Amino acid sequence: MQKLSGTLRAQGKTIGLVPTMGALHDGHLSLVRRARAETDAVIVSVFVNPTQFGPNEDFTRYPRDIDADTALAAGAGADIVFAPPVEEMYPKNYSTYVSEEAVARPLEGASRPTHFRGVTTVVAKLFNITRPDVAVFGQKDAQQVAVVAKMTEDLNFPVRIVVAPTLREADGLAMSSRNRYLSGAQRAEALALGRALAFAKGMVEKGERRSDRLVAEMTHLLAQYRRVRVIYVALVDRRTMEPMREVEPGRSMLAAAAWVDEVRLIDNVTL
Ligand code: AMP
Repeated sequence: MQKLSGTLRAQGKTIGLVPTMGALHDGHLSLVRRARAETDAVIVSVFVNPTQFGPNEDFTRYPRDIDADTALAAGAGADIVFAPPVEEMYPKNYSTYVSEEAVARPLEGASRPTHFRGVTTVVAKLFNITRPDVAVFGQKDAQQVAVVAKMTEDLNFPVRIVVAPTLREADGLAMSSRNRYLSGAQRAEALALGRALAFAKGMVEKGERRSDRLVAEMTHLLAQYRRVRVIYVALVDRRTMEPMREVEPGRSMLAAAAWVDEVRLIDNVTL
């Protein structure tokens, strides 16, 4: 892969990278189209990265279907699908990790303490392997975007980070590979997250600015769903992930995570 990206660069082509864990859906494909629009050669990586899963998380049962993913990625304009085996990314003697230590700490970092270390490590490796000019990430994983942007800046990676909006199902559920885990009844309850966020955004549009009012209303709404257990609801700065007391338009974001039975879901809205 490193050689191939070298050849592309020698031909004067700009390279776009879309890192994914596969089980591709329209959200992923919108990122591929965005990369296609911004660069000459689009690489989609498909790698279920073991280092970003905690010991009791869903690494082994995470959906994998490389043939379907390859066809979908190509259909959306990818030139290359890079799907390395785990042993190639992490050989037996592997011992180097990249960790961002501020943006990665709250929210997801609080309940998944080794998650972002795995993300920054694999993204740094993917940057070095594919040498992209542009890398496209989804706003769906807003803290991931913020952590990757900070790592890119701190470690001087010559990559432009592009953030693409969250794609939703017709009923508002944010698209996610993990939605495949949901039964019919769970899926109906999973709508709670998007609904609570949309409600809070509506409050902001009507003039509400106070974090505690927004968080309280969202928590109240989420409590009405029998299968939903809130992990966090927070008003934060979208770049630093630090908590904010009041909405500052353009700078603030509401983020939420919840269990729907045993399925962990996240969602967010920018304000
Ligand atoms: P994943 O395969 O879940 O690691 O996601 C790969 C990339 O797709 C990440 O940058 C995600 O933020 C992005 N992504 C996942 N779901 C969506 C969505 N519903 N809309 C837009 N981007 C998404």
